[in-house]
Amino acid sequence: MGSAHLTIDLDAIAANWTALNAKTSDHVETAAVVKANGYGLSASRVARRLWKSGVKSFFVAVASEGKTVREAVGKDADIYVFSGHMAHDTDVLNSANLIPLLNSPEQVTRHFNEAPGKPFGVQLDTGMNRLGMEPDDWTDLRSDLMSAGPRLVMSHLACADEPDHTMNHHQLRTFHELTDGIAHRRSLAATGGILLGPDYHFDLVRPGVGLYGGLPFSEATPVVRLTAPVIQVRTVRPFETVGYANSWTANIESQVATIAAGYADGLIRAMGPRAKVFAGDVPCPVVGRVSMDLITIDVSHLDEVPEHLEILGTHQGVDDLAEAAGTIGYEILTSLGSRYVRTYEGIA
Ligand SMILES: *Cc1c(COP(=O)(O)O)cnc(C)c1O
Repeated sequence: MGSAHLTIDLDAIAANWTALNAKTSDHVETAAVVKANGYGLSASRVARRLWKSGVKSFFVAVASEGKTVREAVGKDADIYVFSGHMAHDTDVLNSANLIPLLNSPEQVTRHFNEAPGKPFGVQLDTGMNRLGMEPDDWTDLRSDLMSAGPRLVMSHLACADEPDHTMNHHQLRTFHELTDGIAHRRSLAATGGILLGPDYHFDLVRPGVGLYGGLPFSEATPVVRLTAPVIQVRTVRPFETVGYANSWTANIESQVATIAAGYADGLIRAMGPRAKVFAGDVPCPVVGRVSMDLITIDVSHLDEVPEHLEILGTHQGVDDLAEAAGTIGYEILTSLGSRYVRTYEGIA
């Protein structure tokens, strides 16, 4: 096989959901965030697998993603849309029976005019200043919204991956001030918020990245394995160079393998010299620049060069690779390319 191979373990995603669910008490619902095509791994397959595990609520970023999830899981799941009710969304929200999380007075007006009686939730801003209704608008609209019966009132934490950050407590207090006493379900925590403990859990938690094996859920089961075939191996003599801009020079005679994966597959150039790939258990350094379709690897220390080298797996997770590239696991996951041969393991 000439292409790199991405294996996605759906049972590991289900196991991560179960492990996160176990961190909350029984009255707290654990939903699943499957935006950005399930963090790059297929929203349909992930949602279908989790639905079979008993997940009842899903969250997506935009309405069109919600339609895909609806087709995957059938009519009974609750599917929430973070971007709310945007212009031209009414048809897809209604036909797929999605629940927009209304973010502004404009969205409230649009929803009540264009989809009267249809379900909705409310997203409040508690300090992140990204998405959600401002406290003053909430004060003005609160009684109208409450009498219409939102399915969920939620907000999002800006710094939940840093447990000691004072922003967490500040946002928690603000969320209490804005919502204490309402008769509707509340949600504040994503993956990081679940790990902050029960004060942050309210009625529903919304993990995303932890399901897919990423930090801050450090106990996660790895979900993805990525291997790339070795196209050729050559001897590079001392003072010869490898790659664009002559970016690596051999000090001693070296064996360099070229594998079929590159930045067009989401292996961003920034990971260059600090990244490794694995031959079985043995790490092998990347040498030279990452090209569009190819990466060069120093394999001098191997007795035998295998047919495939492993880029992601148990030895190197998405966050390890992210660190080598100066980014975060979320970006590595959602950048995984369309050229990979994808295999889904586990029941689906
Ligand atoms: C992406 C997102 C989540 C999930 O966050 P993770 O850090 O991936 O768990 C939850 N809520 C909102 C509003 C989001 O945008």
